[in-house]
Amino acid sequence: MKRNPIGWMKEEYQNLVAQNLDWKIRELQGPSTPKATVDGDEVIMLCSNNYLNLSNHPKLKEAAIEAIKSHGAGSGSVRAIAGTMDVHLELERRLAKFKGAEASLTYSAGFTTNEGLIPQLVGRGDAIISDELNHGSIIDGVRLTKATRYVYNHSDTAHLERVLQEAEKENPEKILIITDGVFSMDGDIAPLDEIVKLGKEHGAMIYVDDAHGEAVLGEGGRGIVSHFGLSHHDVHFEMGTFSKAFGVMGGHVSGSQDMVNYAYNKSRSWLLSASHPPATAAACIAAIDVLETEEEHVKTLWDNREYFIKGLEDMGFDTGDSQTPIIPAMCGESSKAVALSEGLYEEGILALPIVFPMVARDKARIRNMMNSGLTKEQLDISLSAYEKVGKKLDII
Ligand code: PMP
Repeated sequence: MKRNPIGWMKEEYQNLVAQNLDWKIRELQGPSTPKATVDGDEVIMLCSNNYLNLSNHPKLKEAAIEAIKSHGAGSGSVRAIAGTMDVHLELERRLAKFKGAEASLTYSAGFTTNEGLIPQLVGRGDAIISDELNHGSIIDGVRLTKATRYVYNHSDTAHLERVLQEAEKENPEKILIITDGVFSMDGDIAPLDEIVKLGKEHGAMIYVDDAHGEAVLGEGGRGIVSHFGLSHHDVHFEMGTFSKAFGVMGGHVSGSQDMVNYAYNKSRSWLLSASHPPATAAACIAAIDVLETEEEHVKTLWDNREYFIKGLEDMGFDTGDSQTPIIPAMCGESSKAVALSEGLYEEGILALPIVFPMVARDKARIRNMMNSGLTKEQLDISLSAYEKVGKKLDII
C-alpha cells in the first residue's frame, strides 16, 4: 500500500491534542479592546499586547484611512526596488527622533527584524552570546549565524562575564551580546546597564529586543535604553516592534546611521520582503504622535499594573519576577494553568495559559497583560474571578 506522504502531520497534531498542548484559536469578532467579543462571548481581555489600547485610538484609525485614500492599499514592491514611499521614510525619521537615535530602519515584523538582521552582524570567526530566555525570533536569528554561539544563564551577569572570558579564548573578531529588554514570559527587565558595562570591557556589540519595553518603559515610553539612561553609543542595536504597545504592526531597529546603511544593504528579510501597506506606516506615525502628546496612556498602564499585581498578590497568587505590565499568575503544572484559564473564561475573562514547552514543565502560568484601557471596575471583576477560580483549584 502506498503511504500517505503527509500522514505524519495528522499524527503529530493528534499527539498535541491528546496532551492538551495544541493551541485553541479564539476568534475576535471586532477590535482588540479591553472589553472584546471573542467566540461570540463578551470578555474582559487580559492577554493582548495592545498595552496602550492604541490600536483603537481615533488618531491611528484616521491616519490609516487617510493613507489608503492618498497612497492606496499596498506598496507594490520591496523597499529596495519601488516600495519606499514618503510615509515609510517619515516613519523612520519620526521613530529615530522618538528613540533619540541617529537613524531607524523598519521591517515588516519584529520577527523578521531579528531573523534578518542578527545573522548579518556576526559570522564565522565571531562570537554571539545570548540570554537563555531570549525570544524565539532571536533564537532563530542566532541559529542562522555562522558565529560560535554561547548562552548565559538568565540575566546572570556574573555568568555572562565568565562566558565572555571563555569566548575571548577563541580570539573572535567580533562579539555580539543579545538580550530581550523585557522578558515576555515573566515580565522581568534585563540588567542592561550591567550588560553594557561588561560589553564595554570586552569590546562587544550590544543588541536589545525591546518588543515589550517600548511605549511602556522609559521617559514617555521611549523604551529600555531611556529607562536605564543609556544611549545608542552604549546599545548599538535597539530593536522593537510596532505590533505591541504601538498598536499596529512592523519591526524596527534604531542606532547609528552607519548601522542602518549597513543593515538595509545586507539584511535579506528587509531586501526581499515587501514594505508595509501605507496605512500601516501612517498608523505607526500616528502612534508616535500620540505617545509624544498624550502622556496619560503610559501612566494609566502603570497605575493599572500596580493595582492588579497588588490584588493578585494580596489574595496569595505568586506573580513570579514581574517588574512590568506583564504579570504571570504562577500555577505549577500545565493542567492547573489550563483549568484556571478555562474557569476564568467562564467568568468572562480571557487570560491564556502559558505551558510547556514555552516555559518549564513546572512553571506553567496564566500570563496577564495589563492595558491602559482597562477600567478599575474591569480590574475588580477580573480579580474577583481570579479569587473564585484560584480557590476552587487550590492554587491560592
Ligand atoms: N521579540 C519579542 C520579545 C516578542 O515578544 C515578539 C512578539 N511575540 C517579537 C520579537 C516579534 O514581533 P512581531 O510580532 O512584530 O513579529
